[in-house]
Amino acid sequence: MKIVFATKNAHKIEEVSSIKPDWIEILPLPDDVPEAEEGSESFLENSLKKAIFYSKFLGKPVVSDDSGLVIEALGGFPGVFSSRFMKGHPYQEKMEKILKMLEGEKNRKAKFVCVATFADFENSFVISAVGEVSGRIAEEIRGSGGFGYDPIFVPDGFDKTFGELGNEVKNEISHRRRAFEKLFEMLSALSGRI
Ligand code: IMP
Repeated sequence: MKIVFATKNAHKIEEVSSIKPDWIEILPLPDDVPEAEEGSESFLENSLKKAIFYSKFLGKPVVSDDSGLVIEALGGFPGVFSSRFMKGHPYQEKMEKILKMLEGEKNRKAKFVCVATFADFENSFVISAVGEVSGRIAEEIRGSGGFGYDPIFVPDGFDKTFGELGNEVKNEISHRRRAFEKLFEMLSALSGRI
């Protein structure tokens, strides 16, 4: 089955391509498509909106993800605002700002959350799955692997950040892996009936 991944983030495409079963082929989003409206205050709503919008627009099955970094001591911030926070500024500056906001804070608990959605608009079919990886915010920016906030996130069971651990380790345990694994399992169980 050919499925379009509703993202322009090459890192996300690489991560999900390494997880998908062989019977699924992931296609990139065409360049000339309009931006889907996001702007909701939940990962689920944003993920649903993107998948449904692009499946309707392209007339094809689509997967989407909406994800973000949830920091306990900041009341869940940046959460769904992870990409919109300090929009236009490089991630180096966004991470420096977050470390500043957490200065002197003992509670460094955080998690990455991902809601993955499959939508087939023509067949009125939608399913979503959530994946999380728990960890903590490092005291400083470390590593240059991955993308976004990876260099300040240390997953539980490790001393290194996602930026230092590299794609192989990250792709084994990431929020995106957990969400898409569940999503693809559900699709596999239903294949032939949708
Ligand atoms: P989205 O593309 O609208 O889902 O926004 C997700 C944002 O959350 C990204 O732009 C990053 O800022 C952050 N984010 C989500 N997943 C990751 C990840 O795996 N590593 C680092 N940052 C992430």
